[in-house]
Amino acid sequence: MAEIKGKGKIKIDRERCKGCLLCIEVCPSHRIEADKTQNKKGYAPARFVEEVKENEKGCTGCAQCATVCPEVAIEVYRAK
Ligand code: SF4
Ligand code: SF4
Repeated sequence: MAEIKGKGKIKIDRERCKGCLLCIEVCPSHRIEADKTQNKKGYAPARFVEEVKENEKGCTGCAQCATVCPEVAIEVYRAK
């Protein structure tokens, strides 16, 4: 199994996402970006940036993104 860098990870349901980008603004670790391809509804959905580069902070599992999402499109997983 792939190692989780950082303490958490999220799963974004890209078909549920409406591309409001609130989650991108709220993430303190800058782990979310807008995807370049549209979903079936024609929105550019949010995408979790799983690869953590040097000098970057990984996802902490803080769940702020999930809390702010009006579409309930984000699930948060915390590393044990
Ligand atoms: S759980 Fe927190 S750190 Fe992880 S992607 Fe969401 S807002 Fe960012
Ligand atoms: S907050 Fe929810 S609906 Fe808005 S861009 Fe993020 S995942 Fe999509």
